[in-house]
Amino acid sequence: MSEWKTFTHDAAHDGVDPRIAGGRLTVDLDALVENYRLLQRRAAPARVAGVVKADAYGLGASRVGPALWRAGCRTFFVALPQEGIELRAALPQADIYVLNGTFGPEAAPAFAAHRLMPVLGSQADISCWEAFGWNDGGTPRPCAIHVDTGMNRLGLTPEEAHAFATDNALTGALTPRLVMSHLACGDDAGHPLNRRQRESFQAVSRLFDGIESSLSNSAGIFLGPDFAFDLARPGIALYGGQPFDGGDNPMRAVATLEARVVQVRRARAGETASYGAHGVLSRDTVIAVVSTGYADGYHRASSFAGVPLRRAVPAGGHGFVHGRRVPVLGRVTMDLTLFDVTDLGPEGVTVGDWIELFGHNVPVDEAAAAAGTISYEMLTSLGRRYHRRYVGGDG
Ligand SMILES: *Cc1c(COP(=O)(O)O)cnc(C)c1O
Repeated sequence: MSEWKTFTHDAAHDGVDPRIAGGRLTVDLDALVENYRLLQRRAAPARVAGVVKADAYGLGASRVGPALWRAGCRTFFVALPQEGIELRAALPQADIYVLNGTFGPEAAPAFAAHRLMPVLGSQADISCWEAFGWNDGGTPRPCAIHVDTGMNRLGLTPEEAHAFATDNALTGALTPRLVMSHLACGDDAGHPLNRRQRESFQAVSRLFDGIESSLSNSAGIFLGPDFAFDLARPGIALYGGQPFDGGDNPMRAVATLEARVVQVRRARAGETASYGAHGVLSRDTVIAVVSTGYADGYHRASSFAGVPLRRAVPAGGHGFVHGRRVPVLGRVTMDLTLFDVTDLGPEGVTVGDWIELFGHNVPVDEAAAAAGTISYEMLTSLGRRYHRRYVGGDG
């Protein structure tokens, strides 16, 4: 093996050797576990599952999953069968649900081989799992039933759910372990759809007597005890994202993204910086050039100027270095981003320093807003060129 580790796409998620990495991502597993515990307190007496789809929102499901397991989490949700297979390797005993359905008869053996439970969200899913779902011992395979109450994405209609519940009570063809639905507007506490979905789901869940029910994502946990049901399914709040619009974020930051300074340069007032020459310097400026760009998920829309379709935060993105916030200067490029570090003075920033792009000082929600997007997309677009390190989490 080479002395220099390179990114491997393997389960270790250690990415690039830190000595040669352009950026580094630190995942604080203690903060993750604290967030899990806070959500547990809010959702009690309901249980709290971990949603670890999209590689735990970009933070590494093979590390996040076991940390949550050690904190007492026993139920996990992924989106795709492949994600379930990878998670099974890290969590031999967990209940793993696959949200996006069965993927048809050809995929069914993969569910059985890895003891994954499909979330059945259509008549086709139900037929597929009924046809496949008798294991060797003759008992029907477990699954979840997804009922759509207002999202119009996945799920049986309440009428289809009613028909299924009646039929299945007679035939016992399937063994549903969970009935669930998903909120469309949970982050907006005053939205009238929340109450309508809750009432619709309450009626449906009564059809599935003795089976656990689940409605709330991260935001739903903060809508009050009526929304808790038996099992909550948070994702973003575990990872430190703000679960609802407005107010203070009760969650601890879990991910810190930092970029390596590879040059510090001085430019004169009137010169311009980066592509398109949009970063016009109004003063003599010290520029820190960092080795992270949009190919690493630091979105081009975070640019200070010159990128159309900007929304939300006209000032562009900010980094944090040596105790100060520093603005992005000019367009973010594929592999490099410029920061105006003039206000740090002559000794301010040196080559080899690290500038925080988000973390404890620049909330991930702020960095996302600067790019006209949301924390979910910021985290799931993190690239593969980082050095990744995991701290805390009791091993
Ligand atoms: C992604 C997802 C969740 C988690 O949502 P967050 O807003 O990240 O908490 C829960 N349930 C379903 C069905 C999902 O698709």
